[in-house]
Amino acid sequence: MATPHTFDPTILREYDIRGIFGQTLHEDDARAVGASFAAVAAEAGYRRIAVGRDGRLSSPKLEAALIEGLTGCGIDVMRIGLGPTPMLYFAAYTQNVDGGIMVTGSHNPPDHNGFKLVLNKKSFFGADIQRLGRIAASGKFPVGSGKIEDKNILESYVQRLAQDYRGKRPLQVAWDAGNGAAGEAMKLLAARLPGRHMLLNEVIDGRFPAHHPDPTEPKNMKQLQDAVLERKCDLGIAFDGDGDRIGVVDGKGRILWGDQFMIVLAREIIAKQPGATIIADVKASQTLFDEIARMGGKPLMWKTGHSLVKSKMAEMKAPLAGEMSGHIFYADGYYGYDDALYAAIRLLSILANGTESLADMRDRMPNVVNTPELRFPCSADRKFKSVEEVRERLKRAGADISEVDGVRVKSADGWWLLRASNTQDVLVARVEAKDEAALKNLKAELAAQLQQSGIAPPPGF
Ligand SMILES: [Zn+2]
Repeated sequence: MATPHTFDPTILREYDIRGIFGQTLHEDDARAVGASFAAVAAEAGYRRIAVGRDGRLSSPKLEAALIEGLTGCGIDVMRIGLGPTPMLYFAAYTQNVDGGIMVTGSHNPPDHNGFKLVLNKKSFFGADIQRLGRIAASGKFPVGSGKIEDKNILESYVQRLAQDYRGKRPLQVAWDAGNGAAGEAMKLLAARLPGRHMLLNEVIDGRFPAHHPDPTEPKNMKQLQDAVLERKCDLGIAFDGDGDRIGVVDGKGRILWGDQFMIVLAREIIAKQPGATIIADVKASQTLFDEIARMGGKPLMWKTGHSLVKSKMAEMKAPLAGEMSGHIFYADGYYGYDDALYAAIRLLSILANGTESLADMRDRMPNVVNTPELRFPCSADRKFKSVEEVRERLKRAGADISEVDGVRVKSADGWWLLRASNTQDVLVARVEAKDEAALKNLKAELAAQLQQSGIAPPPGF
């Protein structure tokens, strides 16, 4: 493994490594990821790395090549096998290892795949990932011969999740793993909980035959919504392809988005720790930030991206953080990484301990009208520049703006967000208002700003 290697430039991304298997991502790339990660680890004095994989058809091949790269450079590997990404994080935080690499394409189409990396209990992202590219290109890898140990941690992972379940009232729950890598853990977990549990798509199948495992798309939640209504469940819980994002349905069959069920999760934390800092990403509803403050917590708006949120959370010692996309991070009682199965345990505990249903909680939430996250194409060279232009114009006009990530503009009508995606050539927008008329005004305001920068607004504007 002494030969230099060049990655397709599109695969070394902000938060992880990801490509299309057989097109931009090959077994050679996996080997080079292993070897260059080994170089970084060895330089810092680390010797042992956990490796896990999701259920995609290409994952065993990429896993084998990745492990070849690691062991060929003297790193010992703990192979934990098939499971969700949070199980790999669990290994990285609790086992005798210095870091971990998860082979996963997350919530992306079946032919996509990639790697999520952790070193010394910290996300390995941004400049670190770019550094892997430079090391691979230099071909300067350490030489050695690492050992492989197989360790099945599924039972201890599920045991750890179940340990934090507190519930008086038995619940009826529908679960949908979307045939993703959380399926087996979900089945074992549900079997340990009181109440009645109905499992959907719990068999791990990388072709995703039932529906795509991405709970942020309403069409992927249809089967779960129907099951909740049909079986009169208290709620439904869905996981994405690698179990680091959660989707939630209330007893009336309505989807609760990340920034809505975060209100329920935040209430429990703030009751225990008044004044606690709770982090949500810049796409989240103003309602969430206002509710956190009203309940006596400190809301903190932060950049979108699971690696960025995790880092900020550790810095601020925040007990809870969440993204609208469904990444939920608990440091209260847990390790501070995004684990959708753990978030499910905490949500179920809250509901099983109280008398109010999730649907009633939803009905009590302040009413606002908002768009979902809107993504629309913009060239790589224009996406950051155009957001900057909009921000400068608004600043000159004296608008009330947040510059945490892109530009988020607040007015009496509500707010709108415009940011450039770090991972795709798209602009991301979201608009929220107190009523339909105000929403229309804000959309027109955003469209006018885009037009001034020569960008076509998203459809429906
Ligand atoms: Zn995921």
